[in-house]
Amino acid sequence: MYQYAGVVVNNDSVQVDKIFTYKIPTSLLGVLQLGFRVKVPFGRGNRTLDAFVLELYEQCDSAINIKEIANICDEMPLLKITDIELVKVMKKKYLCTYLECIKVIIPRGITKGIKKKTSLLLTIGKQIEGKFLNEPYKNIYDLIELNKMKYNKNEFSKNFKLSLSSINTMIKHGFLISQEVTINRYNQKHYAKYEEKILNEKQRQSVDFIMNSKKNKFLIHGVTGSGKTEIYMKLVSYMLKENKQSIILIPEISLTPQMVERFKGRFGPEIAVFHSRLSDGERFDEWMRVKLGNAQIAIGARSAIFLPFENLGLIVIDEEHEASYKSDSDPKFDAREIAYMKCELENCKLILGSATPSVESYYRSTINELSLITINERADGAAMPKVEIVDMREELMNNNRSIFSRSLHDGITQCLSKNEQVILFLNRRGFSTFVSCRKCGYVFKCKKCDISLTYHNAGEYLTCHYCGEKEKISKVCPSCGSSYVKYFGVGTEKIEQEINRIFPSARTLRMDFDTTRKKNSYEYIYNTFKSKGADILIGTQMVAKGLDFKDVTLVGVIAADLSLNLPDYRAFERTFQLLTQVSGRSGRGSKEGKVVIQTYSADELTIKYAASNDYDSFYKNEIMMREAMDYPPFASILVITMSSENENMLIKNIQNVGENLKYKIKDNNKIILLGPCTCGVSKIKNFYRWQIIIKGDINQTIALEIKNSVYELVKNVYSSIRVSIDINPSNMI
Ligand code: ADP
Ligand code: ZN
Ligand code: ZN
Repeated sequence: MYQYAGVVVNNDSVQVDKIFTYKIPTSLLGVLQLGFRVKVPFGRGNRTLDAFVLELYEQCDSAINIKEIANICDEMPLLKITDIELVKVMKKKYLCTYLECIKVIIPRGITKGIKKKTSLLLTIGKQIEGKFLNEPYKNIYDLIELNKMKYNKNEFSKNFKLSLSSINTMIKHGFLISQEVTINRYNQKHYAKYEEKILNEKQRQSVDFIMNSKKNKFLIHGVTGSGKTEIYMKLVSYMLKENKQSIILIPEISLTPQMVERFKGRFGPEIAVFHSRLSDGERFDEWMRVKLGNAQIAIGARSAIFLPFENLGLIVIDEEHEASYKSDSDPKFDAREIAYMKCELENCKLILGSATPSVESYYRSTINELSLITINERADGAAMPKVEIVDMREELMNNNRSIFSRSLHDGITQCLSKNEQVILFLNRRGFSTFVSCRKCGYVFKCKKCDISLTYHNAGEYLTCHYCGEKEKISKVCPSCGSSYVKYFGVGTEKIEQEINRIFPSARTLRMDFDTTRKKNSYEYIYNTFKSKGADILIGTQMVAKGLDFKDVTLVGVIAADLSLNLPDYRAFERTFQLLTQVSGRSGRGSKEGKVVIQTYSADELTIKYAASNDYDSFYKNEIMMREAMDYPPFASILVITMSSENENMLIKNIQNVGENLKYKIKDNNKIILLGPCTCGVSKIKNFYRWQIIIKGDINQTIALEIKNSVYELVKNVYSSIRVSIDINPSNMI
């Protein structure tokens, strides 16, 4: 029998990031299992802390002075055995603490003592049959019976202005029943049936192949509109037959409404939805539904990968190429890597799906770590859209100074006249993206960040997109006093204004960071556009992927060059993906689709490949470059970022770290160290930022050694210097 337990305490300090041994009290012998949350006395003062049981032992080397566990917190273990494995692997792989890993698996609401929410709901009682009711009772009866809704007693009374005493009378005589039931806080909306489609040949082959294969990891490379969702749903329904559960990951919260609509419309309401916009209470409910076996399917963003299904059969990662699957705060996990691990630990199947697979994943399919499934046609026989590249330099030479090329302008006119819809994409929000003085060149910059300020039309303010700081706009240059202050660059707000000016009858909707801050704004925009409550949807990358609107026949890319010039080795990949994905929103119904890509770099190969939907050429080119330059997937990149409000202290310390690390790795010819140098954005919220990049064959042993030396070197200045270590970050800026 286990007499001792190894626990991790719920305290954020790095000093206590270890497994502590406690004695199991007699009362808990045989009861306490791995994964339980317990209370333990901790430290010199024996303060009571929460802790998680990660290990159990029969004996202990030094049994003296070992404290006892006080008690168990919950009715069931919060971590599964496989979760504990996962925590241990993640800690090593992502160079973080045990607790950070535990906290992504168990959401905050669970351990904070949030309770289930209950409500008194009204239903029709037995006594009603054959009885004739007078007003107001008849009205009450009709509302409940005809709407087939379960109303909360008090809300019902309030919303329909019906007296509580009438309702109570009906309850008393058995016409109505009032019952206390647990309710889910998250979105109880009813969804229309989403009919099952008859799979086409290619979809059926893919499903059969996945179900019958002995392999368990697959990459579906299917063009935009190839019907990947229908494949996922078929797989999910097979899993349900085998009593297995499924997790569907989506990259961006803007895709939640569509995915939830399809899945709830097909499989019913018992689906957990899990993303960053949920309140602690909603998160608690959704997590508990999974934990208690009340949901068989979960849809969510990257952290949904950790949901505690008992018998997980399938993980789907849709739009697997998206950067948002990698977390940039601790633990800096990559949901794709976690999915690989879970696949092995829980013996389930993994499907990565994309029209533009990440270079890393596609590479894995070429070395047989993933089984590749390719689909080249759209599901319902629709043609791929016709793509036109417009060179904006030529437009200028032809005296067109508008944001819209003649081709895009004509396209919009035609679309509107045929009552079809348009999506306009620009990866920059706001109105003007920088403001500067034409006389002396002064650029309005954020005082706290090294970044130029953006002009937003709503309110006369300049806003910083890094820290949110607002500054009142000034008509004169603060540097030379001239009044030649001018606005440069175009953002989504400006596009909307221009559209409203040129096409005054067109109804527009905008989807970007600024229009989606409210809780249900994604749903609102999605539903409005889908029901043709608007003609033109203008947006940032949020509109670029996944969305399936049948009446969109024109997509306009306002400036394809934006992502090309980022200082990141993935700039070409990102551009290719973005352009291909946004083009894929066009012509998804029976009508032919068109795409206009405006650019100042019309000769750029990446843009040409995207326009001709030529993934293979893009990949060949890109993988060659990666190999030659020693970038992932051929090498790893470890980025150490240090930041501080004290610039001198920061530079002194990071130089010291750099020199020590250089010395440490001097005999290792498989890795190189670059830097230290300032980050792409050298200051954010008053914190100066510097980084060191280590590149090459970095295994876990070396990574851990590097991490330990870095923390050792900065330990005396830890309160004033922040350190972040990330392996293969999704963003190098
Ligand atoms: P993807 O995710 O591959 O871009 P979707 O799953 O959104 O594509 O499917 C594109 C469109 O094709 C959807 O509107 C879907 O309803 C439709 N579709 C999918 N499979 C079929 C099928 N077998 N028959 C008819 N239409 C289909
Ligand atoms: Zn000036
Ligand atoms: Zn700022």
